[in-house]
Amino acid sequence: MFEIEIHQSSYINSQDFINNVSNLIYDYPGFEGDEVDNWRIQLAIYQLPQPFRNLLSDEVKVINGCHPYGEALYDRCVYGVFDPLGYGADGRYGNEWEKSIWISDRGIQSGHLQDILLHEAAHAYSYSILNKCFSSNGGSFRELAHKRFGNEENFADAFVHYYGGKWTHYVQRAYLERDDNKWFTDMIEYCAWYIDCKEQLEASF
Ligand SMILES: [Zn+2]
Repeated sequence: MFEIEIHQSSYINSQDFINNVSNLIYDYPGFEGDEVDNWRIQLAIYQLPQPFRNLLSDEVKVINGCHPYGEALYDRCVYGVFDPLGYGADGRYGNEWEKSIWISDRGIQSGHLQDILLHEAAHAYSYSILNKCFSSNGGSFRELAHKRFGNEENFADAFVHYYGGKWTHYVQRAYLERDDNKWFTDMIEYCAWYIDCKEQLEASF
C-alpha cells in the first residue's frame, strides 16, 4: 500500500509541485498516466533520498507507462524501466523519452512503488553520475560498482537495500553487509565531490 508520510506534506503546498504534476501528460506510446498515479509517483520521488531526488526532479523524466521496448522484449508491462536512450518498440533509440524512468500501472499496483523507483533511480545514477566519476586509479565508479556487485542489476538492488528498501528483483538479502554499506556512503560522497570539482573546472575554461 502507498502511504504518504507526514513530513512530506510541506511539499504538497508548493506551487512548483502542483505545476509539475499537471505538466506530466506525455503523448508517448505506452503512456498510462492519470492524475492520481502521477501524484503517487511525484510523492514517491519527493520521498527519495538524495542524490536520487535531485536527479529525478531535474534530469530524468519519470513516466507512468508501459515502456514500448520493454513490452516488445518481455511481452508484458514490466514494473519499471530506466531508458537512457529513448528506445521504441522497434528497438531503435533516439526517441524523445531518452533518460527516462517508466513505472507501469502494474508496478504501482504491486505495492512496491518506492522500492521500484529506488532501483530505477540507481540505474539513472549509475548512468548519469558514476559513469563520469573516476577513482584515483582511473576506473569509473560504474565499472567498480559492477565489479563489486557482479553486474548493473545486482548493483541496483544493493542500492535499494542501502536505502532501507526491502523489495528487490535480482538479489534477496535481509541487510546490506557493513563494508558494502560503507562503500556506498563513501562512493556517494566522493562522486558528489568529484562531479562538483569537474563542473567547476569545466566552467573555468
Ligand atoms: Zn534494473
